[in-house]
Order: sequence, then structure tokens, then C-alpha cells
Amino acid sequence: MSDTQQDRRQEDGEGRVEEFDAVVVGAGFAGLYTLHKLRNELGLSARVFEAGSGIGGTWYWNRYPGARSDTSSWIYCYSFDEGLLQEWQWSERYPGQREVLNYLEHVAERFDLNRDIQTGTRVTSATFDETTERWEVRTDTGEVVSARFIVAALGALSAANLPDVPGLENFTGERYHTAEWPHEGVDFTGKRVGVIGTGATGIQVATEIAALADHLTVFQRTPNYAIPLGNYQIDEEFRRWYKENYDEIWGQVRHNFSGHDYDPIEKQLQEAAPEERERTFRERYERGGFGLWLANYEDILVDRDANSVVSEWVRERIAERVDDPATAGRLTPSDHAFGTKRVPLEDGYYEIFNQDNVALVDVKETPVEEITPTGVRTSAGEYEFDALVFATGFDAMTGPYNKIDIRGRGGRLLRDKWANGPRTYLGLMSADYPNLFTITGPQSPSVLTNMPVAIEQHVEWISEIIRHMRVGGLGVVEPTREAEDEWVDHSQEVAHSTLFPESATWYMGVNIPGKPQVFLPYLGGIGPYRQKCDEVAANGYEGFAFASSEGANA
Ligand code: NAP
Repeated sequence: MSDTQQDRRQEDGEGRVEEFDAVVVGAGFAGLYTLHKLRNELGLSARVFEAGSGIGGTWYWNRYPGARSDTSSWIYCYSFDEGLLQEWQWSERYPGQREVLNYLEHVAERFDLNRDIQTGTRVTSATFDETTERWEVRTDTGEVVSARFIVAALGALSAANLPDVPGLENFTGERYHTAEWPHEGVDFTGKRVGVIGTGATGIQVATEIAALADHLTVFQRTPNYAIPLGNYQIDEEFRRWYKENYDEIWGQVRHNFSGHDYDPIEKQLQEAAPEERERTFRERYERGGFGLWLANYEDILVDRDANSVVSEWVRERIAERVDDPATAGRLTPSDHAFGTKRVPLEDGYYEIFNQDNVALVDVKETPVEEITPTGVRTSAGEYEFDALVFATGFDAMTGPYNKIDIRGRGGRLLRDKWANGPRTYLGLMSADYPNLFTITGPQSPSVLTNMPVAIEQHVEWISEIIRHMRVGGLGVVEPTREAEDEWVDHSQEVAHSTLFPESATWYMGVNIPGKPQVFLPYLGGIGPYRQKCDEVAANGYEGFAFASSEGANA
């Protein structure tokens, strides 16, 4: 233990630190379910630390206008409790931010979770003490606690990325990042607004702001293949249908590739005649949702020729919807293959560019030179704004880990171990970081699936290994170096057998200057991945090393 740690404890004046079986970091979908499993089912003592002033994770922070799930509501939820499934009433196919947050608040109350969640508290460090085999966890509110297990429920997209544009601090108008949106909301009525970024978030927020602002300028670096959302209100009949068919629905999404209610067509694109392809694409495009991406011909994400057909088809739709051909051209992607970058879902996005009060600036054509006190100066001149909205995304997957000083064996920082890219076994643990579990962490299916499905699979697997350890009197678990090396290689091999790594995306870390460019999530599919995790457990947790400890049940 370092001197500074000793000093801090004395300052706290407690003489000893509070001990828990488990500390959970984050109170979003993952943290809430972890607390339920570990405390309510396994009987562990647990404390959840949450940086926000309330629970909800992604749905607490991302309150920007237009924030909405693009997964069908009836599967964008927990499936572990039949009563919860049956009692909750979703109102729309794609629930808005407030509705998802209401749902999570309901879950927290229903399972009596709030009493063990400490909000407004950010974990700043976690240090493994090799003598006691416990983690010492510190927070920005000065707390120091000790835990046998740490479950990092940090979220894959929770470290907001604000680009380092010269002059950023000089802007005197209102400035927002979509992932740190004010709780009281923002009224854009009659204002001149600039939105920077055209990912899934930028597309949602620009569409909403276009209806209110006096003038909106959208700064685009890379155009996307956005396809229709197809939202609708859920009526009683439909609600009854999905509630009666939940066994089948969850059976599909737990075991298929994507965790969504879509399966690819078991046919290669070249095997389908042009009229059949047209019908297939059109039907999915008009129905809305991820069908065109995830329920398309099985080779569109691995075969360049097959992909170019669907990419071109989506480009034609953009051209049809935007009146001005030059603007349509700028909105049309040509640098990447459809579906290799997260496909944004939109609800009237392309049509905003037909409005007189909306302009598009391509920052590759006319780069942003600086933010001035009154606006944005590009190589083509200055644009003046009352408000600037950064929809510039996240330091995905590893960013949330890098923000915490996580020290494992030998005092080594996790961010140093991961300096050339994350190293994990199954995306669940990293060697030399015993008893630290990473929910939907790098090298797990995570962001390539429906998140609640991936989260439930991880939380359930983690609680089973902890149960196994408690029954067997085992205090410590970590992956072997060999198992980890194999998984890292396997994870990259799977990714590189597809078209995904060829595109400059946050999946590859390309959006963050200096970040190592390795494919971050596991592309093997949630169903096969679940099977692999289950086999590992059934084979006595192969690839993991356990050690008994005197304090095993502490
Ligand atoms: P994102 O996909 O990373 O998009 C960020 C945007 O900002 C991109 O257009 C990017 O351009 C641009 N950008 C970044 N730095 C810039 C700079 N210095 N100058 C100009 N432009 C810059 O982030 P996001 O839209 O927040 O979405 C992240 C992920 O969150 C999504 O992919 C999705 O998984 C999730 N999400 C989900 C939902 C939903 O479920 N409904 C909604 C929103 C987000 P480049 O493309 O050139 O990098």
C-alpha cells in the first residue's frame, strides 16, 4: 500500500475502510442487473457507484432532442423476470430517452436497488492489493472502500469525445455535447444552431433542431448510410402479441447472431435475381429498422461485390430524397461499405436538407479552422451561431476504462497494458486484474448486438462464476495469459474475415487521435459467443486460473 493511500485513510478518520463483497461501477442497464444478481440472488454485500446524479447510464446522460433507442422496445429491456416483462407497457416501437429512463427507474424500485446505489460519485481508481487479494476503490468524493470483486458496468459508449478544435473555449454562445445534455432541456426556437457530427446521434438531434431553429448548419465529416427508423405507437393488440410470444422472441434474440429480432437471409446476394433483390431491399427499407443491415443476404458484410450492390441501392435512396443534387452528393457515402459503420436510423433526416433554414457543410471540403467567439470558421468563411451542439461521439469501449486508474498485479495500469489495444479473455476479464469483470467490454459482442441481451448474458455468466467460487472456497480468479492471447488473436481474425475493419470507424478506434487501431468488439455473434462462454464454464472454466483465499467468503 502506498503512503498516499495510508494518508487518505487517516484523513477519513475511520481507521478502517468499508468492505464489500463487490463494488459495481455504473448504474445503467448493466450495473442495475449486476446489483440484483449479486445482492438479491447471491446474497453478496455490494455497493454501486454511479457518476450521474441518477441511475440510467446512457439514458441518464443522452437527453438530447431526438434521443431514442433504435432497437424494438419489447426487446430493449431485461428478460430475466417474467413479471417485469408482463407488467411493463412500452408505448412505441422505438422508445424515447425518457421512456427508457422511466423503465430503468421502475426496475430499480421494483428490485429495491436504490439503497445500494451511491449516485454523484465517480470511481477514480481501483488498486488490487496482492496481500489481501482485495481491490481498493477510490472515488472523486474522497471515499475509499474495499471489495473482493469489481464489476465494471461502465458502458461501451460513455466517455464523450469533444474534439480538440482550436478556439473551442472562446465560443461565447451556448455549447453542448449530446452525451452531457442539460437536464432542464434546451430551447432552440429562433436560434442559429450548428451541429457538428453526423453519426447516429447527430442525425437524430439535427432532425429535431431543424424544426425549431431559425437556422441550422450541419457540419459533416463523413456521410453515413442512414435508413428509415419506421417508428410507430404500440396498440393493445400488438402488445398482447409480443407478451404472449415472449418465449419465442427471447429464444431468437438470445441465440442468433445480432441479439436483435432480425436474422440474415440464408442466401448469397448473387443467388437472387435483380427483381428479388429490389423487393428484399425495398421491403426492409420501407418497414424501417435494421432489417436492411441485419436481415439482408448473408454475404453483404463479407463480400465486397455483394456489399456494393446494397451500398449503391442506399445511395440511390439518398439521391431521391434530397432535392439539391450537390447537397445529395455530399450526403452520399463513398468511402466505406454499407453496414461496416454503425447504420444510423433516421426519421426525416434527409428531408431537412430540403428546408430553407438548413445548410450542410462538408468539413472535408472546407475544413474547420477554428471556433471563434461567435461561431465556426472554416476555410470557406465564418458561420455565426447562438448555440453549438457537438454530436461527436465517444472514445468507445476502452475510453471508459482509461478514465479510471485501474492497477492490477505489480501495480500495472490497465491502460498501459492496453496501450496497443485491449487484451482480454472473452471480453470478460484481463490477466493480472483478478476478480475484475468487464461487462460488455472490448472483445465481447457488446455494441454489435442488442445491448440488454449482451448485458444479461454477461451478468448471468459473471454471477455464476462468483457462485462457483463461493461454493468452492475460491477467492481469486483471472484468465491465463495463454487463453487471453488466443482470444485476442481469435477476435481479430473473426473481424478481419469481414469488411468491417476496412472502414474508418469507432469500432476500429479511428475516431480518437492516437488510439490504437484494432477492432474493438467481438464479431462472432452473441449466440455463438454465448455458447462459447457456456462451454468454458461447463469445462471447469477453462482458460481461467483460480486460487483459494482465506477471505474467500468475505
Ligand atoms: P459517432 O458515430 O462516433 O459520430 C460522431 C460524428 O462526429 C461523426 O460524424 C464524426 O465524423 C463526427 N466527428 C467527430 N469528430 C469530429 C471532428 N473533429 N470534426 C468534425 N466531425 C467530427 O457518435 P454518435 O453519433 O454519438 O454515435 C455513437 C454510437 O452510439 C452509435 O454508433 C450507436 O452505436 C450509439 N447510438 C445509438 C443510438 C440509438 O440507439 N438510437 C443513438 C445514438 C447513438 P466521422 O464519421 O468522420 O468520424
